[in-house]
Amino acid sequence: MQQGGSRRMTATAVALQVDDIHKSFGRLEVLRGISLSARDGDVIAILGSSGSGKSTFLRCLNLLEHPDQGAIRLRGEALDLVQSRQGGGLSARNARQLAAFRARIGFVFQSFNLWPHLTVLDNVIEAPVHVKGVARAEARDKGLALLEKVGIAHKRDSYPSHLSGGQQQRAAIARALAMDPEVILFDEPTSALDPELVSEVLGVIRALAEEGRTMLIVTHEMGFARDVASEIIFLHQGRIEEQGPPSEIFHHPKTERARQFLAKHL
Ligand code: ADP
Ligand code: MG
Repeated sequence: MQQGGSRRMTATAVALQVDDIHKSFGRLEVLRGISLSARDGDVIAILGSSGSGKSTFLRCLNLLEHPDQGAIRLRGEALDLVQSRQGGGLSARNARQLAAFRARIGFVFQSFNLWPHLTVLDNVIEAPVHVKGVARAEARDKGLALLEKVGIAHKRDSYPSHLSGGQQQRAAIARALAMDPEVILFDEPTSALDPELVSEVLGVIRALAEEGRTMLIVTHEMGFARDVASEIIFLHQGRIEEQGPPSEIFHHPKTERARQFLAKHL
């Protein structure tokens, strides 16, 4: 069970602060003002029906999508969203700042998104070497330790297509960890997996929670969210419909929509 209770007794710093994020695609308003705060060690599970804006929200947080409005702060440091919106028009210096900011937030995708032409180990060391400028030998040592940690060191020289989905996702988690991110975002990390492979990936994420990693996880694994999350956020049509500790959301949902959603998914 979660150590969230004991964690809350010690003062922790705010790792990620998000204020009033809005995002539209053309006339479709997908995010209608989302705010949240993740303190060090928080594990926030984001629930909601398909199309409620969960992926768009996570993508806004590391600027795979550019929010139309709102603020994102990492350890109190605000990211200049106006600057980030200019995309291709960034000066080299601003582009570097944006890349540096992005490197502080890890992202694990539903579909793994490993480089198919690189071995597992090369996938893991690619960003440390090319984005952070870490020496190759050092990146390799650390990469091997991370593969060990997620239980796939024996696959280090294999290509992603030769791995099971669960192994690929564990490689993707090792790749995210290799950048020492301050926050890790997971977008339905087990939804693309065969049922028998789900638990090996959830086990890795659970271990990261136990280490005190700060994570936001979009998931439909309700048992996992209930056991591991320190906080649950329920999104509906681009707004936070309900928010609170798992005990409250799962046992005493306040809104009819959350009740219906849980009835369908529990
Ligand atoms: P969820 O992850 O909760 O299923 P998404 O964030 O993927 O929801 O999508 C929310 C809504 O935004 C959906 O209606 C989806 O079709 C739309 N949407 C997402 N990405 C784009 C995009 N790049 N262009 C246009 N519409 C998009
Ligand atoms: Mg999604």
